[in-house]
Amino acid sequence: NTNEMQLIFDSRSSNESFARVTVAAFMTSLNPTVEEVSDVKTAVSEAVTNAIIHGYENEVHNIYIRCRTEGKTLYLEIEDKGKGIPDVKKAMEPLFTTKPELDRSGMGFSFMEAFMDHLEVESEPGQGTTVKMEK
Ligand code: ATP
Ligand code: MG
Repeated sequence: NTNEMQLIFDSRSSNESFARVTVAAFMTSLNPTVEEVSDVKTAVSEAVTNAIIHGYENEVHNIYIRCRTEGKTLYLEIEDKGKGIPDVKKAMEPLFTTKPELDRSGMGFSFMEAFMDHLEVESEPGQGTTVKMEK
């Protein structure tokens, strides 16, 4: 019994809460706990913010979210077609940031890893980034 949803929206920071709430609404069929919903919202928020400020560097382009529920699991993919990440392993280390001047703490991927059950990042410089997560 699977259910799917896809979302395409502009990479404006004003759309970040819209993305977070939409994914939360989609996952209600799984009867999640309040904490599970909160964890997913945090992860969506971090990934979408990364797409906006790092992927597209605040230019407005499409962000793609694909969601699937299967059994009791939520599968989530958040994609941008922006600048990509040269060294994914390094980017995922706690405290690593390429934008310290913007008060970034380099904790986004660490939060996604902590709050979700699975995290995988695929990225190609010049092509974009896809963050895949499960809860
Ligand atoms: P914070 O999330 O704590 O505000 P941050 O965004 O720098 O700081 P992470 O979210 O962990 O920290 O990301 C680490 C680094 O990975 C970023 O500084 C950036 O260089 C790179 N990165 C993350 N997401 C993307 C993306 N979608 N496109 C391009 N680069 C990215
Ligand atoms: Mg971040």
